[in-house]
Amino acid sequence: MASEAKVSVRRYHLYINGEWVGSSSGRFIPVMDPSTEEIIAEVPDANEKDVNRAVAAAKAAFDSGAWHETTAQERGRILFRLAERVRKEAGMLAELEARNSGKPIVEAEYDINDVATCFEYYGGLATKVLGHVNPVPDNALSLSLREPIGVAAQIIPWNYPLLMAAWKLAPAIAAGCTCILKPAEQTPLTALEFANWLPEAGLPPGVVNIITGYGESAGAPLVLHPDVNKIAFTGSATVGKIIVKAAADTVKRVTLELGGKSPNIFFADADFESAIDGALFGVFINQGEVCSAGSRILVEKPIYTKFVEAMAAKAKTIRLGPPLERETKMGPLVSKDQYDRVRSYQEVGKKEAKLAAGGGRAASMPKGYYVEPTIFYDVDNSARIAQEEIFGPVAAVIPFANEAEAIRIANDTPYGLAAAVWSRDIFKTFRVVKAIRAGIVWVNHMQPTYVEAPWGGYKQSGFGRELGPSGIEEYLETKQVHINLNEQPIGWY
Ligand code: ADP
Ligand code: MG
Repeated sequence: MASEAKVSVRRYHLYINGEWVGSSSGRFIPVMDPSTEEIIAEVPDANEKDVNRAVAAAKAAFDSGAWHETTAQERGRILFRLAERVRKEAGMLAELEARNSGKPIVEAEYDINDVATCFEYYGGLATKVLGHVNPVPDNALSLSLREPIGVAAQIIPWNYPLLMAAWKLAPAIAAGCTCILKPAEQTPLTALEFANWLPEAGLPPGVVNIITGYGESAGAPLVLHPDVNKIAFTGSATVGKIIVKAAADTVKRVTLELGGKSPNIFFADADFESAIDGALFGVFINQGEVCSAGSRILVEKPIYTKFVEAMAAKAKTIRLGPPLERETKMGPLVSKDQYDRVRSYQEVGKKEAKLAAGGGRAASMPKGYYVEPTIFYDVDNSARIAQEEIFGPVAAVIPFANEAEAIRIANDTPYGLAAAVWSRDIFKTFRVVKAIRAGIVWVNHMQPTYVEAPWGGYKQSGFGRELGPSGIEEYLETKQVHINLNEQPIGWY
């Protein structure tokens, strides 16, 4: 009976002003395990009324003394306590993340470790935000003070659920902002579990609020709300463009990370075994649901045929399986929508290029949103599978004749998030690194991401930088203060 089945489904609430509350509509969104297609939880379907409550709480917390007057040291300690708690609960968080997102448990464990590291990093950085003394030519002291922007709305995607929450919350808390976080409707669970630990870490009520809901009904009113001062968004380019337009009316500060179609470039002199590994890792890690996925694989002609064959042979050995099994190297896609989207690109690819591996549903997995790791080759860079972000395990291999052609193809995309170059020739490598229009360029590797180093894109991959010292900059305003030291009238009139 449906009512009995429901008993095992955990019901979550909204986290507003330090309390767990229901949504005003009383409606819920089902949350799935994409490997079994079963509902594992329900979260509130928040709407504009709930958003208004959360923004009011965040604004009150920002305006009130309690948060405003915390010292940077105190905010740092709160972040360290959160990191400690995440490390203590890492097993539970990784398991929940893997169950809800479909990612392999081993990858989820890396993610949760990165979550804790992110809180530690910004915990340390909280006390290193410095202003300036400006060398003005008068008898005056001119200061630049750094102050929190205010209320930040943070809208995140489903591919790295708690990690994306950490990338947004940690620098905002360090800077002294208050936040409303909206997780993706598909993967809200780890952020909600995390919220349980905010009070004991010492965070005053209202500093962090969590609203679950759909983009149109919970995300859009956040973007329009006049009391929200900043939007930090990670997600699709389509929604990023909607957000920039919607934020214009109230001149919100906006940072965007919108994914890409990143080139992974292999010259003939690269170490062959490392290259094959790097090509597969670049595009298939996290089922290819990665904004920086190396989804365009550019290969120099002398090694091209051998490369495609080796890549395809190894791709066929990638172990698909349930996310919670430690041997699993690829889990299901996050949702039915995403599965349909990736399946349709597999069919588009079959018309546009040649198929070297995969190309369909993973037949070995009877249930769940599994697709085969798929490799197309002889892809023209103008093909849809080379221009459009698929966000799944679908690689487009493109041959190139020389360095100039590699650069031309690499940059022939509206995106500019990431790229990688594989070669043993440092002169050629660095010429290519300089010529590529992307915010992140890896050499002889692809995907390592560190909280210490800036992350963000060129072109339509967005603007602003997360992580590193730039991550906190995006939550700070600059106030210029001029202190006159002449104890006499101006004497103008
Ligand atoms: P995808 O289509 O892959 O789910 P989206 O860019 O739609 O990627 O989703 C990223 C995040 O943006 C999610 O939290 C989603 O709910 C939110 N979102 C979607 N549409 C809007 C919108 N119109 N305004 C604000 N947020 C939105
Ligand atoms: Mg969407």
